[in-house]
Amino acid sequence: MAIEDDVLVIGGGIAGSMAALSAAEHTDRVRLVTYKQSTLRSASGLIDVLGYTPDGTGPLADPFDALEDLPDSHPYQRVGTDAVRDALALFDEITGDAYAGDHTETNALVPTHGGTVKPTARYPAATAAGLASDDRDTLLVGFETLPDFDAPLAAAHLEAAGVPFDTRGVTLAFPGIERDDAKVTRYAHLLERNESITMGTTTTGAREALVSLVDAHLEDESRVGFPAILGDDHADEVRESLADALGVDVFEVPMGPPSLPGMRLEDLLYDALEDAGVRVTSGVPVVDYDSETVAASETATADEVAADGGSDRETPGDGERIDRVIVDRNGTEIPHRADQYVLATGGLVGKGVRSERAGSAENDATGVVFEPIFDCHVPHAEDRYDWFVDDAFGEQPFARFGLESDRELRPLAADGTLEFVNLRAAGAVLGGYDFAAEKSGAGVSLATGYVAGKRAGEEVGE
Ligand SMILES: Cc1cc2nc3c(=O)[nH]c(=O)nc-3n(C[C@H](O)[C@H](O)[C@H](O)COP(=O)(O)OP(=O)(O)OC[C@H]3O[C@@H](n4cnc5c(N)ncnc54)[C@H](O)[C@@H]3O)c2cc1C
Repeated sequence: MAIEDDVLVIGGGIAGSMAALSAAEHTDRVRLVTYKQSTLRSASGLIDVLGYTPDGTGPLADPFDALEDLPDSHPYQRVGTDAVRDALALFDEITGDAYAGDHTETNALVPTHGGTVKPTARYPAATAAGLASDDRDTLLVGFETLPDFDAPLAAAHLEAAGVPFDTRGVTLAFPGIERDDAKVTRYAHLLERNESITMGTTTTGAREALVSLVDAHLEDESRVGFPAILGDDHADEVRESLADALGVDVFEVPMGPPSLPGMRLEDLLYDALEDAGVRVTSGVPVVDYDSETVAASETATADEVAADGGSDRETPGDGERIDRVIVDRNGTEIPHRADQYVLATGGLVGKGVRSERAGSAENDATGVVFEPIFDCHVPHAEDRYDWFVDDAFGEQPFARFGLESDRELRPLAADGTLEFVNLRAAGAVLGGYDFAAEKSGAGVSLATGYVAGKRAGEEVGE
């Protein structure tokens, strides 16, 4: 017998989590099925709404000023500006004091580990004392065993970028860590548990050892930035105790993968899912589906959709309705049935969208880009050489690969009709935007996840 729910969300990244949380505001039978780790574990933990326009203008002071000028195919245009605000409001409710930035619609400027300044809408509270708009002088501290954060170089880059403060960087040996392959969680746990460290002839706590090393380099700076490794479950306590002991503000600089701030955000979202009563099934992929054809009278006509503020691209006619999806649990196929489905399986990175060569020996340039569960249409050029441009900083077509949708986020087939009447898509599986160039990744996932989940929840039983 199939497992039955009202809303089934596929994918457990930011988009899927938000979809499940917003659906759970409308119905209490929501399930989220997810396979592998999401990109949250690699991402910085920053919530970028829009840092640059698609033509590269920026950094943008107010992302909301630019949202309405985005191309019609952009996911933000599909859901509308109010939905972006509503999604951020739900995010603020979920993350509480752990995130900052909700006092303004202006982008904050957060220093990155490379010494650039990132325009972002929401940032972990741990990074708040490091904002580049703050003019206090700054000491950046890096560690020999964490070469991804070269503090002197990052400081030089920040100065070159014209930040309104003096900044220096020093590289120290992290007390208690000698190997450069130690996991970031090892650094975090050493500090969180304040494990005993022997330095020379003295044994002391890891925090005290770190404080004494940093103190020796501190001059007039009133804030110190460390790579984002200051604790795991109790990062606030670690940061505050270092700040007290050093007598300055302490902040974290977001790092590349694996990212502790991303993992902390994942924990916040999954705690919220549990609180909201969402049933989470992890470690299993959705591999297939069964559908049935429903008559035109049961599907929205183009006029009805347009009247509802939706896309005018759908054509009236019979539609396909997903009856159930198949989850592969160690080789056993388990059917899951729901009234409404949300596809939030990520983009090319998360494998929600895939590409393959499809050419013959004579013509190996042909390629296909596809969505592997429902085979939803993914617009792309047939010739793989058209997926890229030579200029590494140019507009890369592959970066925009993903599903097209109507304003309800229902995926569209090549002819503009709905792929399925009860499927919505959210997050990086959607196409039409380049999250890396625009700095809009988490923001699009939040907004589209929120809308897809809300509409799915509202539509249950309609
Ligand atoms: C290295 C890196 C750094 C980034 N930095 C930033 C940043 O600083 N700021 C920012 O705003 N954005 C950033 N982003 C972008 C942002 O993280 C992503 O755009 C966003 O998180 C995508 O979320 P998602 O939920 O759509 O997809 P994903 O995070 O990819 O999650 C998709 C989930 O679906 C699951 N899944 C896939 N197929 C199936 C299946 N068949 N069955 C069940 N589950 C399935 C996957 O296992 C995964 O858990 C970064 C991304 C990367 C890769």
